[in-house]
Amino acid sequence: MEAAGYSYQFRIALLGDAGVGKTSLLRCYVAGARGAAEPDPEPTVGVEFYSRALQLPAGLRVKLQLWDTAGQECFRCITRSFYRNMVGILLVFDVTNRESFEHIQAWHQEVVSTQGPDKVVFLLVGHKCDLSTRCVSSQEAEELAASLGMGFMETSAKSNCNVDLAFDTVTSAIEQAL
Ligand code: GDP
Ligand code: MG
Repeated sequence: MEAAGYSYQFRIALLGDAGVGKTSLLRCYVAGARGAAEPDPEPTVGVEFYSRALQLPAGLRVKLQLWDTAGQECFRCITRSFYRNMVGILLVFDVTNRESFEHIQAWHQEVVSTQGPDKVVFLLVGHKCDLSTRCVSSQEAEELAASLGMGFMETSAKSNCNVDLAFDTVTSAIEQAL
């Protein structure tokens, strides 16, 4: 978990189907941009990461290593050692894409099957909440999150809604588990 100049390094990944907005969410957070997400990011190929420095309330400097994934629907494209290295995972679906919500349990299972469920902090994220064409209600997402023992939050990179809060929620949960 250590990195030069930092007290800790937290490795966090975003998982979910292609097109749900993982790359946009990540870029919005890393840029700290108020307002616009990049209109049309290139589809992510393979896995890449972004870094962001963070100061915890206790004064500790933390380096967040944020891993983007190609949202290939073939879960097995991502190696098990990738999951094992993560301390936090955002499970992202698109509130206007029912199928992406229905795949959440499979993504969760993929991670859990590689490590004990209490080793990694999860957050369920319903993305694109700026859109009015939703087909997943907040309530059913809350229920799924509760049944999987994790929190739930709705985000938008377009209207920059809850982007910082989603990552802050995960990092404080990781910090608490240190
Ligand atoms: P990824 O495949 O999960 O990485 O998804 P992308 O970040 O590439 O986004 C897929 C599409 O959704 C792109 O056309 C984005 O512009 C769009 N998108 C991403 N975030 C949002 C959002 O918060 N609101 C809306 N309306 N569209 C978004
Ligand atoms: Mg992407």
